Amino acid sequence: MMTDNYSISPIATINTPFKQKFAIPRQPSLANAKGSISFLPGFDDPAMLEGIEGFSHLWLLFIFHQTLPRGWKSKVKAPRLGGNVTTGVLATRSTHRPNGIGMSAVRNLGIEIKKDRTVLNVGGVDLVDATPIVDIKPYLPYSDNVDDATDSLSTHSGIPARRVEFEKILASKLSELERKYVGFKALCKNVLSQDPRPAYKQHIDDDPKTYKVALYDVDIGFVIHKGVVTVTQINQL
Ligand code: SAM
Repeated sequence: MMTDNYSISPIATINTPFKQKFAIPRQPSLANAKGSISFLPGFDDPAMLEGIEGFSHLWLLFIFHQTLPRGWKSKVKAPRLGGNVTTGVLATRSTHRPNGIGMSAVRNLGIEIKKDRTVLNVGGVDLVDATPIVDIKPYLPYSDNVDDATDSLSTHSGIPARRVEFEKILASKLSELERKYVGFKALCKNVLSQDPRPAYKQHIDDDPKTYKVALYDVDIGFVIHKGVVTVTQINQL
């Protein structure tokens, strides 16, 4: 029957550098983070991935598991409208949706065998660490790439692109972390340049409050000084 309930189970989970939702870029195209997808028992069958190397990009369908317990709302505050105007949830990519399903187009970085388990590596992820994946599909340019698509929200506010600087005292810590996590500095810059503060604060160019972002096992503290995102603390947990 059309009104039946359907249950879906995750087939995999994804590991990403983002240990919390705060500061994750709003869409995959804005994030240069890598993720590795590990398949769950019952779905750890490499045959399912045969042919996937033929696609440069993939769609990930996933559960917004961290916001699911808070339920859904029919109207939400879209960050791109400054955070004060509400709009219909189905007219946004908000996480507070009736079925809590997210979708991200990511780069296919290929299959790897780790400890006898199949892992699928992907690039450009906007998912928090340990997000449950419910499906993976190839991105089909001939169909998914819509040339004349328009987006009314894009006329409101662009994605911030602030300069990011690290206090000099952090240089050796930064090099150490760069050796441990290749691309660490670039990822920090990518995430922080988009000004992760709440939308209503994003026009403030001097904000002495220290905000914390968690990437991998590292806590990064930053302030906004003269319009520049200035990293003042890097603490490995
Ligand atoms: N690209 C996806 C989409 O359009 O469905 C996600 C868009 S949503 C606006 C992106 C935000 O979802 C991220 O900035 C992050 O804060 C949040 N997020 C990522 N993974 C999540 C998870 N597992 N549970 C809840 N929120 C999550």
